[in-house]
Amino acid sequence: MYTLRLWSVRHARGLRRVYDFFSRLAPAFAPVVRLVGRRRAETVLHPFERLLKGLMFDCRACGQCVLSATGMACPMNCAKEMRNGPCGGVRLDGRCEVKPEMACVWVEATAGTKRIAADRQAHPTPLLPAIDVRRRGKSTWIQVFEGRADPAFQPPVDSRIVPESELGPLERACRSGRFVVTVEVAPPDSADPGALLQRAAKFDGLVDAINITDGAGGNCHMSSVAASAILAAHGYDPVYQVACRDRNRIAIQGDILGAAALGVKNILCLTGDDVSQGDHPQAKPVFDLDAVSLLHVARGMCDRGEFASGRRLETPPDLFIGATVNPFVPPYRDRIANLEKKILAGARFIQTQFCFDVGLFEDFMAEVRRRGLHERAHILVGVGTLGSAKALKWMATHVPGVHVPEALIERIGRAEDPKRAAKAACIETIRALSGIEGVAGIHVMGHKNEDVLAQIIEESGLRRQPRLQAV
Ligand code: SF4
Repeated sequence: MYTLRLWSVRHARGLRRVYDFFSRLAPAFAPVVRLVGRRRAETVLHPFERLLKGLMFDCRACGQCVLSATGMACPMNCAKEMRNGPCGGVRLDGRCEVKPEMACVWVEATAGTKRIAADRQAHPTPLLPAIDVRRRGKSTWIQVFEGRADPAFQPPVDSRIVPESELGPLERACRSGRFVVTVEVAPPDSADPGALLQRAAKFDGLVDAINITDGAGGNCHMSSVAASAILAAHGYDPVYQVACRDRNRIAIQGDILGAAALGVKNILCLTGDDVSQGDHPQAKPVFDLDAVSLLHVARGMCDRGEFASGRRLETPPDLFIGATVNPFVPPYRDRIANLEKKILAGARFIQTQFCFDVGLFEDFMAEVRRRGLHERAHILVGVGTLGSAKALKWMATHVPGVHVPEALIERIGRAEDPKRAAKAACIETIRALSGIEGVAGIHVMGHKNEDVLAQIIEESGLRRQPRLQAV
């Protein structure tokens, strides 16, 4: 089955022609469907559809087939059911983060899409909404016969007009054009807010905002929404990270409203690491939304003032909405399509995965500038350090989505003082990044490494303590 699935992607162009031919014929079958009745037509047709698509595409019968738009690779075979492009965890050899025995579905989809597209740089996959579970197990062919509506959702119209005085500190800093610095802090394994505030205080005066991770790596900590609210109440500007892994759209929207009500001004929409990476591998992953559909939902709440269901909000939240991108793993330059979709779906700032390879990032930024994406969203590049070659090697091998060049590992390994050498390499990276056109700032990351991260910010000459950024 898997071999046939790969064959279909390799022959995406021919299969797309077959699809186009039948979709032109489809309206002719509509009267037949009406005559025999939809239910009866479905009973006859659906087993045949399932068999054929099951064999050729490993079809999961989601009832919302988009194969013709995803290079004949079924996105439902993705372990996170991503509908809008690859997650950030794709392995360096193009294999899946969650199921390394198979190629990433979206690496396949990208290859298939480029086979179909005349312009091989193009990636016409539309913005796809989250799955409607009520349609699972239903025939898509019948929908095509009946002239189904375009499955793509319309990009949001940015109707958010907020006076400068009401913007949060991070948005103000991004708009000011100065080099922005954000830092990632993991909430504590504690019911005591003191532990969180202690970590945050290390960055007083050094950063424009503090990201609060949401079960990073699939590990359980204090909730991101609560930790963000605590920071907001203490004068910090938190970025509330929202992962789709643990909550469905009902819970997420409730949390977004709650966060805004508690003074949070920024959210970062993520798909999230798989549960298999963390300390609860036995947990059930949710992935009701992916990062793109979450962005769309969040923008709908802020801009149109409504839930994903269309129900009106009494008071809409007003949030600076961001997303992530990982240019350092396959499909490399084609990740640009993923970034473009996120911006189209509503992201106004972007934070990247760790950048240990400035050359690779420069290639990516060249394409970002060519498409003018840096003018539509503020791009903050992820940087950080680990104190030894062994730790870097471990990260490169065990953390899907992180690319560490061998040359860097060797450099740290050869150094007399590996910690100092790792810090120096990080500062060099920051200086190189600050010279790249279109880079709006950096996003500093490193689990339980706050002291070193604060030193890096100061020693790179970006900021000096003490200077508290009050909301
Ligand atoms: S690597 Fe990510 S996007 Fe690709 S198939 Fe696996 S879970 Fe899906």
